[in-house]
Amino acid sequence: MSSEESAGPAHSPGYEIVYPQTSLSTEKKERILANLQKIVGKRNVSCREIDRLSYSRDYWPIALRWMLEGKVPALPDFVVWPETTDHISHIVRIASEEKIPVVPFGEGSGVLGGAIPVQGGIVLDMKKMSAVLTLNDDNLTITVQPGINGMNLERFLNQKGYTMGHIPQSLYCSTVGGWLGCRAAGQFSTKYGKIDDILISLEAVLPQGTIIRSKPVPKSSTCPRIDTLLLGAEGTLGVITEATFKIWPYPEKRALQSYAFSTLKDGLESVRTILRRGIFPAVVRLYDQAETERHFYSTKKARGKCILILVEEGDRELVDLEEAVSHTVCTDHGGFPTGEAPAAHWMETRFNVKEISEFTPRDVVFDTIEVSVMWDKSMELYQSVISAMKSIEGVIIASAHASHFYPQGVCFYFTFGGTSLTGSPTDFYETVWNAAMKACLNAGGSISHHHGIGILRSRWIREELGPSHDILKSIKKALDPENVMNPGKMGL
Ligand SMILES: Cc1cc2nc3c(=O)[nH]c(=O)nc-3n(C[C@H](O)[C@H](O)[C@H](O)COP(=O)(O)OP(=O)(O)OC[C@H]3O[C@@H](n4cnc5c(N)ncnc54)[C@H](O)[C@@H]3O)c2cc1C
Repeated sequence: MSSEESAGPAHSPGYEIVYPQTSLSTEKKERILANLQKIVGKRNVSCREIDRLSYSRDYWPIALRWMLEGKVPALPDFVVWPETTDHISHIVRIASEEKIPVVPFGEGSGVLGGAIPVQGGIVLDMKKMSAVLTLNDDNLTITVQPGINGMNLERFLNQKGYTMGHIPQSLYCSTVGGWLGCRAAGQFSTKYGKIDDILISLEAVLPQGTIIRSKPVPKSSTCPRIDTLLLGAEGTLGVITEATFKIWPYPEKRALQSYAFSTLKDGLESVRTILRRGIFPAVVRLYDQAETERHFYSTKKARGKCILILVEEGDRELVDLEEAVSHTVCTDHGGFPTGEAPAAHWMETRFNVKEISEFTPRDVVFDTIEVSVMWDKSMELYQSVISAMKSIEGVIIASAHASHFYPQGVCFYFTFGGTSLTGSPTDFYETVWNAAMKACLNAGGSISHHHGIGILRSRWIREELGPSHDILKSIKKALDPENVMNPGKMGL
């Protein structure tokens, strides 16, 4: 996709740009292009309209809706494919001097607009930095470049007899850099942890070009960890260029279980008890009645109930014990055993995604919202978010499952769908999101468990963080005085 063309016009007429930017002067554009070509070579820079359009959005449903309506969310001026950390260091130095944005781009599977270049500038596509650098069996670690695709990484590990345990639904269409940038969570997170738990150390380029590297050690107490500022920063504080992660021997045994509960509360209580007993199944998913009906309609014994899916994996003897303890706890809490089949069905279909573009022309809007909450407020949060969403005129579906669990609390993953009866689909979408976010905040939850903030959630970030948001702004200003790194995100 790269080209050797010289700088073209900022955009062609014929489509509306939702976040338009002032065009760079031809002189400035040609100067920056020449400098970028000097750094990464001509084949690794493009100003072609087709490339700029390809990097104009991520997987935020509203950005997709804009595209289907013929609108372009935003256009970068340049698309660049760096191949080394030094390339990135030089690129951000130029960007600082020229005061133009730099937006790291993994695979654009972020769902909140985090990778959209709202102020133009340089999109850094990280996919040419996708090597596995070292696999260390003594330490059980792997070191990789950030542009590696999730499935390629996991397949590499599986072939060598390991797993990273980080299996997001977007495994086939996301990168390590995006995971760290958004603080992602995989479907097997209850055993293996979230990406921030799995990370050992990283290398990153800060906004003024400095390269930082943390030591790969299991733990140290040497001042606050500067590298962890990059986690969840969505590319606003620098570019992650390398990461070392924990890995595990490939599980010897996998056990599949499922139980139907009369109420969500009983199901939650079972999981809370399992975790208190020190059992951490890799996958724990508890669906409310609506989602049980939607996803497990062929499990007759679960009709009208809430189904719990458990997948335990690891050492054979431990898995046998985990399975036995989980069974006792679930049946003690009124869970009816529904066998392996529903869990096997989930395993088979876990990467299936409903193509939202098929609904868009019909003005039907769907989205998902993941939040987290402590156990003692979990039912209150679930009920308030569901009723807040249902109270919006036009909502047809409002449901949830819980998919990431801790001894202290839980992540709820809500789904809503509907159509606006009066205003535009976008207004409807924003009204439902607003109702859900307010209900979550009022119930003491966090507005995001693993998708991040991006553009969409920026409007509630102040309420989420309070004065800490000012501190974040000060850190951003200190590290990035020219505001070049992914501007316009996270309310910064
Ligand atoms: C079908 C589907 C299923 C999904 N399932 C899950 C799931 O199970 N769990 C989950 O957590 N998320 C999930 N997501 C959301 C998304 O996949 C994650 O947010 C993922 O981490 C994004 O990775 P990416 O490489 O596509 O990043 P992008 O979308 O390209 O970028 C995301 C953000 O990270 C920044 N970034 C990218 N690379 C770097 C880097 N090297 N250094 C610094 N910043 C960087 C970008 O600037 C942007 O702000 C899903 C999305 C889809 C579409």
